Amino acid sequence: MTQIKDSTELDFCDVLFMPKRTTLNSRSEADVIKEYKFKYYPHTLKTCGIMAANMATTGTFEINNVLQKYQAITCLHKHYDFQKEENIQYIAKNFKKKESDKNSYTFISTGLKDDKKKLFKVLGNKDFKIDKLCIDIANGYIPKLLEFVKEVRAKFPYLLIMVGNVVTGDMTQDLILSGADIVKVGIGPGSVCTTRKLTGVGRPQLSAILECADAAHGVGGLVCADGGCTCAGDVAKAFGAGADFVMLGGMFAGTDEAAGDLIEKVVQTNQIVGVDDKTKEVTFLQKREKYKQFYGMSSQLAQEKHFGGMACYRASEGKVVEVAYKGSVENVIMEILGGVRSTMSYIGARRLKDIPKCTTFYRVNRQLNEVFGKS
Ligand code: 5GP
Repeated sequence: MTQIKDSTELDFCDVLFMPKRTTLNSRSEADVIKEYKFKYYPHTLKTCGIMAANMATTGTFEINNVLQKYQAITCLHKHYDFQKEENIQYIAKNFKKKESDKNSYTFISTGLKDDKKKLFKVLGNKDFKIDKLCIDIANGYIPKLLEFVKEVRAKFPYLLIMVGNVVTGDMTQDLILSGADIVKVGIGPGSVCTTRKLTGVGRPQLSAILECADAAHGVGGLVCADGGCTCAGDVAKAFGAGADFVMLGGMFAGTDEAAGDLIEKVVQTNQIVGVDDKTKEVTFLQKREKYKQFYGMSSQLAQEKHFGGMACYRASEGKVVEVAYKGSVENVIMEILGGVRSTMSYIGARRLKDIPKCTTFYRVNRQLNEVFGKS
């Protein structure tokens, strides 16, 4: 019989942090770098826990080059061909043989349909030890995924494995017990995702994180909140709900380092610059605006660009948007880290790992005052 789950399901926009007495006098005292330990991966990793999504637009070498300076992670998209010399060179530099545990903030990515032989060859390469893998499929509930995670774990016991996506505690635990160190949480929250529209499936992201983080931590695993963050405050809320990592696509899109051409448009503002005396015709100020294209990895465009067209049994579960140009991704990561530090000083969290302990959320029905328009 059809069941209805009557619990309150929340998104980032449904809550705000309650400020608390704090021992911090300034946000500069908040430490956003944490030393992570993992269930299977034998090394520790000092990072701020923020990740660039393995999308063709944001999982780029260029974004990786900048984010690693801030000890933030990049999941490279899976369309880099690691048989190509230039890509091998880059990877070899990033995954130095001995220091890979200390200085690599880079994951490579795979799906289930990708060439397994090729992947295992890259992972088994003796000259550079790739030690971080993101296994990414839209529906993390299919049995093949568990089998694949078990297979990869058995073959590469030292690998840091992140896998997803799911939104419930049971599947989070199954994936961790099958060999995942980190489970990616999120079905449908992404900025260019249309899964919820097409399939009606999904779960509000804050509730998904709360449940999956609790389930993962109970069996020694970690979670990465994937999708739905629109601003630094959302990233802080994801950490507040218990996420160990937060993955961002749209927030890193539109930057110099994101893939895609810059699009320039002339747009008319509503600022009047002149009125013709005779005709009374009004001239408005025109300004140039810059954008970059950003597209979902299940969008028709992605299917055409990277897979040679859309398979007949599937429909597009992603869209194409133009994101306002933001300059360097450095501006974005600095703003996020600044925002998270500020949250920490409001709630009394000195270290990143203290955020959930210091978090009390208010449920709200309005969080912003945008009556005078967005800036
Ligand atoms: P954002 O940070 O832009 O809100 O979300 C990024 C996440 O959206 C990605 O990490 C990925 O999980 C998800 N995503 C990317 N492309 C697509 C797509 O085409 N369809 C769906 N359903 N999700 C997508």
